Amino acid sequence: MEFVSTRNRRETATAAEAVLRGLAPDGGLYCPAALTPLPEDLSALLALPFEALAGKLLHALLPSFSLEETLALSRKAYSSRFETAEVTPTAEVGEDTVVELFRGPTGAFKDVALSLLPHLLTAAKAACGQKEDILILTATSGDTGKAALAGFQDVPGTGILVFYPHGGVSPIQRLQMVTQPGQNVRVCAVRGNFDDAQSGVKKAFASLSGSAALRERNLALSSANSINLGRLAPQTVYYFKAYADMLRRGRIARGEQVDFVVPTGNFGDILAGYFARLLGLPVGRLVCASNQNNVLTEFLRTGIYDRNRPFYRTSSPSMDILISSNLERLLFLLSGDDELVARLMGELNKAGRYQVPERLLGQLHALFWAESCTDRQTERTIGQVYADHGYLCDPHTAVAFYAAEKYKAACPDHRPLAILSTASPYKFPAAVLRGLGQQSSGDEFADMAALEARTGIAAPAFLKALQRAPLRHEDVIDLEDMERYILEEARI
Ligand SMILES: *Cc1c(COP(=O)(O)O)cnc(C)c1O
Repeated sequence: MEFVSTRNRRETATAAEAVLRGLAPDGGLYCPAALTPLPEDLSALLALPFEALAGKLLHALLPSFSLEETLALSRKAYSSRFETAEVTPTAEVGEDTVVELFRGPTGAFKDVALSLLPHLLTAAKAACGQKEDILILTATSGDTGKAALAGFQDVPGTGILVFYPHGGVSPIQRLQMVTQPGQNVRVCAVRGNFDDAQSGVKKAFASLSGSAALRERNLALSSANSINLGRLAPQTVYYFKAYADMLRRGRIARGEQVDFVVPTGNFGDILAGYFARLLGLPVGRLVCASNQNNVLTEFLRTGIYDRNRPFYRTSSPSMDILISSNLERLLFLLSGDDELVARLMGELNKAGRYQVPERLLGQLHALFWAESCTDRQTERTIGQVYADHGYLCDPHTAVAFYAAEKYKAACPDHRPLAILSTASPYKFPAAVLRGLGQQSSGDEFADMAALEARTGIAAPAFLKALQRAPLRHEDVIDLEDMERYILEEARI
């Protein structure tokens, strides 16, 4: 399969090149030229355990790598880092199925892709004969940073630099990052929000890629953000896994469609659901759930994307995003029109706004449904889900539960629902406690203990241990200084 830039089909790459580069040279994102249903028998595929399923799907999506290679990569990523061999177990909550994506080493769904990415990049480097070491630049809204740091820690031939918005992540998310050990890792706060940090990283890419400064240091840049195709491919796996679980439990019949509800920020997770659909999984609608930063809700309803709006810091910080990068891939796949995508992205850059043609809006409406909620509604939902089902969810997942209820009420023809749960509730103990109607003590660790006492659900040991972990990364810089910081701090 060939990969092309969303902004110019003539800008092509193999899967290995696309993973290695992260971003296409013209600023577009690498995307499969076309995605078609898998030749394999779906029932046989769905019967596979997670590791083998991942190996098969990765080979289908990234055919630079042989099946033997992708199976080995999958084994390295998933054999010991997750709570269960299932990697992404599912739970029945009332009439819905919850897909628990947070059972990995850092308690967020990003672990599924970022446990694999370092191995994938190393394999891509070998496949392309690249001699330089790899420097990963990453902007994070809270969870990617830690998951990437944990994934790349001390991986030979790689270094990683993570930028997060100063004051824009939860206290636990921050502690997870600034306590990160490893010779090859750096973490830095940037004065600005996530969009600022993400555009700073994209700028640094543009000006540093292939520069003399990097050549002297024997470095090539890549990205661990979901602009990297290597992030999206592993995320298709849990859609298949969730479907297989629902089938096994008799929640659906063979071939029946499932609607997936996805708490969304940069549009990577939900796009992987669309990939799964194109690969032949019976995916019905994809419900895009947002917090008060509802730029996607408005877009999916009206076809107008407008980032000129206030930016809110919410209790679901990993979705505090106004420029949703992966939407570009969806527009490309739906329209097949690279010129249109290039024009729309140009308008977004210049005016912060674009409108898609009527035909494209029709396609979006057929596939997606969208809803957003406030922090108050999020907290109320946490309490409601716990009261009704004894299920404890984090604020991001609560946003999805809220959207699921609205969707079911609005669309009586909905199919059985799978709700993606993206973080451990213990990453956001204060907000979750408030959701259960209790005051936060102001201390995250006391709140964790209070939540454990209230619910009997144990907090992950790696989060409790943060209380005593030494702080290693306390730099705070201005946006303008990101490039200088990269050159000074890059270490492999
Ligand atoms: C990153 C993240 C999201 C949003 O995922 P996207 O792929 O950026 O849309 C949702 N919930 C949590 C907990 C996250 O960390």
